[in-house]
Amino acid sequence: MTDIRLEIRLDRLAENFRLIREAAGPGVRVLAVVKADAYGHGMIPAARVLEREGADFFGVFDLDEARLLRGHEFTTPILVLKGVRPDQAPEAVESGASLALFTSEAARALSRASVEAGMTTRVHVKVDTGMGRLGVPASEATAFCRETAALPGLAVEGLFSHFSVSEEADHPLTRRQEELFARVLDELPVRPPLVHVSNTGGVLNRLSLPLDMVRTGIGLYGCMPGPGLAGAERFLPVMRFSTRVHFVKTVPPGATVSYGATFTSSKKSVLATLPVGYANGLFRRLSNRGEVLIRGCRAPLVGNICMNLAMADVTEIPGVTAGDEAVLLGEQGGDEIRADELAQKAGTIHYEILCSLGRSNPRDYTGGPPDEETNDPAAGG
Ligand SMILES: *Cc1c(COP(=O)(O)O)cnc(C)c1O
Repeated sequence: MTDIRLEIRLDRLAENFRLIREAAGPGVRVLAVVKADAYGHGMIPAARVLEREGADFFGVFDLDEARLLRGHEFTTPILVLKGVRPDQAPEAVESGASLALFTSEAARALSRASVEAGMTTRVHVKVDTGMGRLGVPASEATAFCRETAALPGLAVEGLFSHFSVSEEADHPLTRRQEELFARVLDELPVRPPLVHVSNTGGVLNRLSLPLDMVRTGIGLYGCMPGPGLAGAERFLPVMRFSTRVHFVKTVPPGATVSYGATFTSSKKSVLATLPVGYANGLFRRLSNRGEVLIRGCRAPLVGNICMNLAMADVTEIPGVTAGDEAVLLGEQGGDEIRADELAQKAGTIHYEILCSLGRSNPRDYTGGPPDEETNDPAAGG
């Protein structure tokens, strides 16, 4: 039995997908975002579940991720959210994926490469309505769509934009983004088949005009993009992170703990040393802030978190012994530590907590068909 367990509950991923599908409404397609190794949950196992549940599209970040999916014989179409540079056009055409598009240079290069390969490349024109990251400015979007549609070898399959503050129910920037996007849609001579704007926050906050597709990531993995979202309690976290108490000792008052001696016991205390640290994705910022569940009770993490070790004060929890399970993320007994709690204490967002833990530990898949309940020891590092 390994000391560290990053459990990925595939049955919950499937259930969360069904909830998103329901929230999106009848006839609306669901693009499942599996970028960044499915937010740390493992892209291939997650994609297997999501394809089986009927995801209409996979959203990946770049061509490398698209190729990885392609190597596993999925039939679900793929959208490359980042788009491509002009010099990547030949490999992009070859990938067979749909591509975000927002520069004339990329459009022309893709057109040329598609004609040369005797293929049609599907593109989704990305409109920047206020996110300020990727996309053609809203004021130029109509002309850009017209130019793109006229290029040989390209098919404008989609038109999309991305919200900047979708986790808030009613934000002026969101309304502005919707207006700009609606205007582009209005001006287009031909509406592309797949128009999409909402991410998880957009779906659950019921933002945006009724469109053809939603793009959802964080909700699939059981986290809410923000507080107070409708039906939030029905979504269940997919990731659970635990370890086993390695060593228990009693210390006198005045004992210091870990590098920098940032914790000193105020009384006779019982400390449990856990074999997890920042090398396992446990943010060092949680030092003297985070908590861990042991025997169903919360114990504070005391002293600085080390590379592979962290200490918990278990004075108030009777009977803690080496080998006891210690949960850093997820449920134990009647209590639960959620990713957003960790994020708040670590000064980050839960997306980063999931990516960090997923990237740093082998994953143990449960709740799926027997052939998918495999460890992936290769996933570490
Ligand atoms: C990551 C991403 C999403 C998913 O957002 P969530 O908040 O995780 O639902 C949707 N659209 C784009 C363009 C993205 O980059």
